[in-house]
Amino acid sequence: MKVIKTGNTSWENRHETFVEDIKDLYELGNEDNLDALNSYNDATKGFQALIHDAITTQTPLRSLGAGWSWMKIATVNNGVMLDTKPLNTAFDITANSVSPAYTGDAEHLLFAQSGKAIWELGQHLRQRNLSLKTSGASAGQTIAGAIGTGAHGSAFDFGAVQDFVVGLHIIVGPNRHVYLERASAPVVSDAFIQNLQTELVQDDDLFNAALVSFGSFGIIHGVMVEAEDLFLLESYLRRMPYDDSLKAMMQTLDFSTANLPCGNERPFHFAVMLNPYDKDNGAYVTTMYKRPFVPGYQPPVDNAAGIGPGDDAACFIGTLTQVIPALVPVVVNEVIKTSLTLHDKQFGTLGEIFNNTILRGKLLSAAIGIPISYVNQVADLMLNINKTVGPFTGIFAFRFVKQTKATLGFTRFDHTCVLELDAPYSNETYNFYTQVWKMLEDENIPFTCHWGKVNELFPERIARMYGPAVDQWIAARNKLLDADSLKVFTNSILQQWGLDKVLP
Ligand SMILES: Cc1cc2nc3c(=O)[nH]c(=O)nc-3n(C[C@H](O)[C@H](O)[C@H](O)COP(=O)(O)OP(=O)(O)OC[C@H]3O[C@@H](n4cnc5c(N)ncnc54)[C@H](O)[C@@H]3O)c2cc1C
Repeated sequence: MKVIKTGNTSWENRHETFVEDIKDLYELGNEDNLDALNSYNDATKGFQALIHDAITTQTPLRSLGAGWSWMKIATVNNGVMLDTKPLNTAFDITANSVSPAYTGDAEHLLFAQSGKAIWELGQHLRQRNLSLKTSGASAGQTIAGAIGTGAHGSAFDFGAVQDFVVGLHIIVGPNRHVYLERASAPVVSDAFIQNLQTELVQDDDLFNAALVSFGSFGIIHGVMVEAEDLFLLESYLRRMPYDDSLKAMMQTLDFSTANLPCGNERPFHFAVMLNPYDKDNGAYVTTMYKRPFVPGYQPPVDNAAGIGPGDDAACFIGTLTQVIPALVPVVVNEVIKTSLTLHDKQFGTLGEIFNNTILRGKLLSAAIGIPISYVNQVADLMLNINKTVGPFTGIFAFRFVKQTKATLGFTRFDHTCVLELDAPYSNETYNFYTQVWKMLEDENIPFTCHWGKVNELFPERIARMYGPAVDQWIAARNKLLDADSLKVFTNSILQQWGLDKVLP
């Protein structure tokens, strides 16, 4: 594996909202004089050597994906950050690599190196007439980075990104790497394990814990992805009255009496944006319906502001700057007017609709998971708090995600409504977030926070959110990593969250 020591002693996240002092940043790369498999296995050895050095020199290590997160989860103070993005090979899986016990379609499997970006995965699959099952609104994250925080879209009958992952190849120490999959859903054959020269571990609890583990379960080297046949989305963005009918759909995801663009057909994707400064003119409602892939459709194009049909507020709110309170409604209304174009019957593949890889402006973003039964209570509370603690320089966006199997996946309710709060970087925005979390606690509303977006988590809050799942996650981490590796893959935020516990 190529290891280029950049000598950088500080690192800034992609949104330029924090800087971390580090010992070094290593750019990693596959050796190009080897074939794909040998190069992959050479990188495994390279990772093991890096962990060995880290233990010897007592230097913490952290894998970096695309650097899109707002929290210091991909960084390690005075440690070494590993830029894994260039490690982006993908292997199509042949029948020989699949266990006879696998119940899915072997043709739908793809094994990707951790640095493969979501958009790259989509392009690779497209060549095989396949598609990812879901993604976030944007597609610039790496696959390991996206699952590392539980990134999601609004495919409310499917789940989040980690929910299409069925195997993880993890370098857990200088002398051990494992291929981890669920015992209840075996996928790979002995031949696959031999090709990777690894050890097969089939364990539901370990696998579910490792899925959303923000870099603290070692280095994820490869990810087995379960894709599906290429499909089209038929997309609509309409303004609809923010009335009892819409509120009922948001609270139940029951579309049996819906008056959406395709009547009461259950959408694949459903999302609502509420602009508190223009709500009387209706909410912005996105509905997308799954259709068989048929060539000859007109693919989506961005509007004059560079915004496409799948883009969310994170794609455009960053162009705002904090203004005096009296001007907030004006600037928010203006950015919505120039950014959002209503559309009807726009077709595109998942990768064409959710294709954004560009970051615009100095944006902050927080995402709060709540059970859907609370969505309207929370929406009312948000509109109220906006009058007292706000005005918030952004909008309230609601997406919907099916329950994840990941132990610490933040989309943990039967159906989670993810309330998204994107706004310009400012003290006012941070303060608004703080007050919203406090308000939810005061009102006894169960909630979780996106691990990669702005949050204020501490052990008691995490315990309230996840209950016994916290101890299960800690036990899994302690089972997979030995004492030296636990230390190497601990950073300040893991300590702050109380998730760094070493069990006797
Ligand atoms: C414009 C924009 C739009 C966004 N839209 C969405 C959205 O629609 N839905 C959503 O849920 N989120 C969204 N996010 C948040 C984003 O998806 C998450 O923060 C995601 O985790 C970032 O992925 P990344 O590749 O940048 O990973 P990073 O931020 O670099 O890292 C995330 C975590 O993964 C770990 N990690 C990375 N690679 C490895 C590896 N090889 N092995 C072990 N651990 C690893 C890191 O250590 C870190 O803990 C958005 C962010 C931006 C900037």
